Amino acid sequence: MINKNYFNLQSSYLFSDIAKKVRAFKAEHPDKRVISLGIGDVTQPLPQACIEAMHRAVDEMASSDTFRGYGPEQGYDFLRQAIADNDYAPRGVKIELDEIFVSDGAKSDCGNIGDILSADCSVGVIDPVYPVYVDSNVMAGRHIHLLTTVPQEHIDIIYLCYPNNPTGAVLTRQQLKAWVDYALREHSLIIYDSAYEAYIQHDDIPHTIFEVEGAKQCAIELRSYSKTAGFTGTRCGYTVVPKELVFDNTPLNQLWNRRQCTKFNGCSYITQRGAEAIYSPEGKQQVKATITYYMENARLIREALSQMGYEVSGGEDAPYIWLKTPQGVTSWQMFDTLLHEAALVTTPGVGFGPSGEGYVRLTAFGRREDCLEAIERCAQLKGE
Ligand SMILES: *Cc1c(COP(=O)(O)O)cnc(C)c1O
Repeated sequence: MINKNYFNLQSSYLFSDIAKKVRAFKAEHPDKRVISLGIGDVTQPLPQACIEAMHRAVDEMASSDTFRGYGPEQGYDFLRQAIADNDYAPRGVKIELDEIFVSDGAKSDCGNIGDILSADCSVGVIDPVYPVYVDSNVMAGRHIHLLTTVPQEHIDIIYLCYPNNPTGAVLTRQQLKAWVDYALREHSLIIYDSAYEAYIQHDDIPHTIFEVEGAKQCAIELRSYSKTAGFTGTRCGYTVVPKELVFDNTPLNQLWNRRQCTKFNGCSYITQRGAEAIYSPEGKQQVKATITYYMENARLIREALSQMGYEVSGGEDAPYIWLKTPQGVTSWQMFDTLLHEAALVTTPGVGFGPSGEGYVRLTAFGRREDCLEAIERCAQLKGE
């Protein structure tokens, strides 16, 4: 028999509907150059330090003296050490190597983590939401609660994503503490997705949930090099499962280790050498330069739209700008207007959940020239 939970998935037509509308527009207006502010993927190449490290690793594979076969399922210690030393120690967070599990990216772990959790668990997500949290749990037969804030009722598992996709919102230390306090009180588990951590600009915004006291007793953190260093196609990330974390009277670190050893044979040696290079002095500088480029795009878009009188949020500590549509205009109507009147592609907020209605998401991952031209077109549209 098949897993009938799949029948409970809501069909997601969001990106195919967008593509269909864009195709139709291009067919009608072959002369217009369409600019996408909807791209959810990075566009700048890998840092040079990563390229060089991966070339060296490939050469090691060519000789029997230095060849690597199966690596540790949990990831190589050279990378785990670099993670502990660079992503956690400087923030006053002590993470041991056996609390770090290197993976092929955060999306897989978002879903895979459910392997060690019962199908009876209730799941809370913040609406609007990255659809993977919802769909992977529906597939497992879990009941989903759409939340907008810390709930009154008990929920077993809470997914948090900050800086947020799609809204670009961040949590202050105080706001994050409210979630940790809830989880400690309710014995709930927080799955904290910090894929956009590298985009945080303000000093007072926490970079990891483990900066909050007590978080090691209630949270798992997911990290990804995809948006940090352009690894969307290269594939590498990691998950931190603290040894102090006990859920349903069971230490989850051991359970997750067992799961990974059984079902995962590790991320490639070459890729892990590439990821390690992100933490080299050159790597850090190159990553910073690319993020600065994207965040300058974000600033230009956000400030221009704001000056035009639009209500915008996000884009300060995240590569996403969340644009409120004018009064009475739906997400899709705004999408259509921007496409037809300005040849701009955005992402309708309602595609991320009911609370996204009345918004569109803009991303800062495009080229500078395109961002500037997009701003110009919005200004003309407003001026008419
Ligand atoms: C892009 C993204 C990720 C990264 O996923 P990978 O599988 O590591 O590429 C994770 N979470 C969110 C919310 C994202 O937008």
